[in-house]
Amino acid sequence: MNFRIFMLASACAITLVACGDKSPDGRDSTANAAPVAAESTTTMPPPAAPLTPTPTAASNGKSAAVVTDCATEIEGNDAMQFNVGSIMVPASCAEFTVTLRHTGKMPVAGMGHNVVVSKATDVQQATAAGISAGPGNGYVKPDDPNVIAHTRMVGGGETTSVSFAVSKIQGSGPYEFFCSFPGHAAIMKGAISVEQVS
Ligand code: ZN
Repeated sequence: MNFRIFMLASACAITLVACGDKSPDGRDSTANAAPVAAESTTTMPPPAAPLTPTPTAASNGKSAAVVTDCATEIEGNDAMQFNVGSIMVPASCAEFTVTLRHTGKMPVAGMGHNVVVSKATDVQQATAAGISAGPGNGYVKPDDPNVIAHTRMVGGGETTSVSFAVSKIQGSGPYEFFCSFPGHAAIMKGAISVEQVS
């Protein structure tokens, strides 16, 4: 009931907006208003389309990682970017493996990348602790309680991976994966979550 009223109200609102936009412009004739209105009804669906991609903006506008057999391979490059914005772990997996391939050419000291998994609220503390731990520890504090899993830090052309129990990211999230190289986590991060079983 309420929903129907809402729908009617929004339909009216849209119509009003459309009319409101047109009528001040088509100030001279009402004859013009009719064709314009007819045109705007046919062009209505396309303007609605840009609203649909909005949810994907939550993952930096990047696509989700391709997951096969409880594992995924993601890439990091010399432009300080991961190639994916999110990782969805199948609920059927007990363990999950993330492999990181550094597709760039820069050395680990200048453009190192790793994959660290933390609760979203712990990312800041984990990166700060990682910077204190320094390059010798791959910018991850040893046994950091804020880190769920992490790979080693790699440079251009190198590959590394880490496996962890899926149960570790099934608590109260959200969880994120990021690169703990100083300054990288601001851009090199994404959501990692376990698929919801209905
Ligand atoms: Zn990095």
